[in-house]
Amino acid sequence: MGSLDGKTALVFGVANDHSISWGIAQALAREGAKLGFSYAGPNLEKRVRPLAESLGATFVEQCDVGSDAEVAQVFARAKEAFGTFDILVHGIAFASREDLAGRFVDTSREGFLLAHNISVYSLVALTRAALPLFPAGGGAVLTLTYYGAEKVVPKYNVMGVAKASLEATMRYLASDLGPQGVRVNAVSAGPIRTLAASGISGFRDYQRSFAGAAPLRRNVTIEDVGNAAAFLCSDAARAITGEVVYVDSGYNIMGMQTAEES
Ligand code: NAD
Repeated sequence: MGSLDGKTALVFGVANDHSISWGIAQALAREGAKLGFSYAGPNLEKRVRPLAESLGATFVEQCDVGSDAEVAQVFARAKEAFGTFDILVHGIAFASREDLAGRFVDTSREGFLLAHNISVYSLVALTRAALPLFPAGGGAVLTLTYYGAEKVVPKYNVMGVAKASLEATMRYLASDLGPQGVRVNAVSAGPIRTLAASGISGFRDYQRSFAGAAPLRRNVTIEDVGNAAAFLCSDAARAITGEVVYVDSGYNIMGMQTAEES
């Protein structure tokens, strides 16, 4: 018996089998959830569909979250397919490569707005669209953030500022929606080598110094994030909302990060 038996989850953000959202989807499926997937654009379908099918999912729909029409369409299709669903996973972020290198001060207006539109406003848009499809008792929304929201991480730049906005957005949504039983939380994951991470210059060095400095002396995996996400989306977390839960080997608790290899 799984902690998510009888639940249905709609997962946004799988690009391939390295995606954090894929780790989450696997954990949700293991705990008994029925799944649906949405991917960003046509060239991702050939990767996402076989992954979805490997977990028994048949709902696999495109949605560029920058388009209100595509957001409306994917939720209309979800309504046809599922009627209601219980869990929304938001594993989406985007910034221009040139804004993830060099100095933050050089961020263009266009780059700033793009990062916030796709990485932050999308949480508002998807959550609002999901609301009528959550059952009367409520639902669970989960997003993904990173430590660069709170402290300056070199080269993370505009994405760090967007993650700060995402965390605040998550709290405001939790406050709005708590009275109707909808919980909204974030997992703050340590650095994981994914497609999105490949756009951040010096990422290999991040991971090396992270594993040296984190109390648990290891990098985290998409399975680690998936396990925490499955808990947060389950009824076992029914009194938890508006929280950032760290899955980062304890890195965030350190006041001084000495690079010490174990
Ligand atoms: P990923 O590249 O596998 O996932 C990012 C996803 O965003 C992709 O599926 C991509 O298609 C999707 N996306 C981008 N633009 C979109 C759009 N316009 N419409 C719809 N989808 C769009 O990388 P990931 O690392 O798994 O990223 C997932 C989340 O985890 C992101 O929010 C990221 O910031 C966050 N995160 C990543 C790390 C890390 O180190 N990899 C750490 C902490 C948090």
